[in-house]
Amino acid sequence: MRLNLPRGFWVGEDHGLCSLRRSEKESPRCSGRGTWELQSERATMVKETGYYDTLGVKPNATSDEIKRAYRKLALKYHPDKNPSEGERFKLISQAYEVLSDPKKRDLYDQGGEQAIKEGGLSGGNFSSPMDIFDMFFGGGGRMNRERRGKNVVHQLSISLEDLYIGATRKLALQKNVICDKCKGYGGKKGAVEKCPTCKGRGVQVLVQQIGPGMVQQIQTVCPDCKGQGERINPKDRCTNCNGNKVVREKKIIEIHIDKGMKDGQKLVFHGEGDQEPDLEPGDVIIVLDQKDHPVFQRRGNDLVMKMKIQLTEALCGFKKTIETLDDRILLITSRPGEVIKHGDIKCILNEGMPIYKSPLEKGSLIIQFLVAFPEHHWLSKDQLPLLEALLPPREEVMISEDMDQVDLVEFDPKERSYRNHGEAYEEDEEGPRTGVQCQTS
Ligand SMILES: [Zn+2]
Ligand SMILES: [Zn+2]
Repeated sequence: MRLNLPRGFWVGEDHGLCSLRRSEKESPRCSGRGTWELQSERATMVKETGYYDTLGVKPNATSDEIKRAYRKLALKYHPDKNPSEGERFKLISQAYEVLSDPKKRDLYDQGGEQAIKEGGLSGGNFSSPMDIFDMFFGGGGRMNRERRGKNVVHQLSISLEDLYIGATRKLALQKNVICDKCKGYGGKKGAVEKCPTCKGRGVQVLVQQIGPGMVQQIQTVCPDCKGQGERINPKDRCTNCNGNKVVREKKIIEIHIDKGMKDGQKLVFHGEGDQEPDLEPGDVIIVLDQKDHPVFQRRGNDLVMKMKIQLTEALCGFKKTIETLDDRILLITSRPGEVIKHGDIKCILNEGMPIYKSPLEKGSLIIQFLVAFPEHHWLSKDQLPLLEALLPPREEVMISEDMDQVDLVEFDPKERSYRNHGEAYEEDEEGPRTGVQCQTS
């Protein structure tokens, strides 16, 4: 029998945030006493974790987490930025191709890489890493590749405050622009001649002897004209671009971050890529990368935070302040007589993130309360009855001779005896278990 919990499911009290997270397909991170995380729950279900490891995510990662991981890694290991990591770039792309497609992901989870290679891919091959990259970052794709220059993708690190308030950033780019002096011609008119090295073919054929009586022909791009088949006579070369037709220039682009923009959002600067004669320049694509915030987590248009309160506050009421992303102070007060339980969730309307393109509207600020209980022996033994007299009455237990007296010890999910106990759940699978099976009995 497989313990098949939906992605993002966790066991414990079902307070509102869980179902909210589940519906948004995000993973739970509530870690309070009494409720425990099941991060590793899927890890025990999948056959292999290779693709997950490549992207640095857990097997229970949501599709958003997978996208985010791919985005960061693909930008880091793109051959433009990291020419020596081509193999790694390819593996990242393959992992993403499988894990971003629910059908392929299921197939992989059940049958591993073998299953993917046997039937998960159309045509039996992975897509080209560049196509995956272009598709992800909204590039031109293969169709108009030939007539357009390359798109350039940059990541811009920004804070949650920037996304809340809005911001302007200046980014200095180095790019090729058509030489002004020769208008991209490379020299004087008529100075272009057939490349003498390759006689205008753009390639060189080298004949190599590889053994007695055996020769090998190797065709290479002509080094003198770089495959162009023509060159500019050195004495007629444009002095500004040295015959290269383009010059390297620094260009500042201004990036406007509007209120409510999101992590991963792309801003496209059309035609700001490298210029080349006879080619339409590609785009510069800026991808926003939001840094984690110490207090708030963003969830769509809502902000989520955890608030620690003392047991006294949970029972007797409290006043608390919250510093907003635009430096205002919110004061919250519990209602008299209201009891806040550990894990309870409340929200403040209109204090979430501004809505993109409609910034006067805002999402909600969702607060999950974590109740801090006092430490062991915080109250002396003779004071305990005084407290008990105020609290709701305890349930009396009738004790009889035939009961077994057992010990209650601290819970450790990694403990062996516990693991063995859980085997009944999955008799058909092997491997180490983590202690997720104990929540109900
Ligand atoms: Zn040549
Ligand atoms: Zn020039």
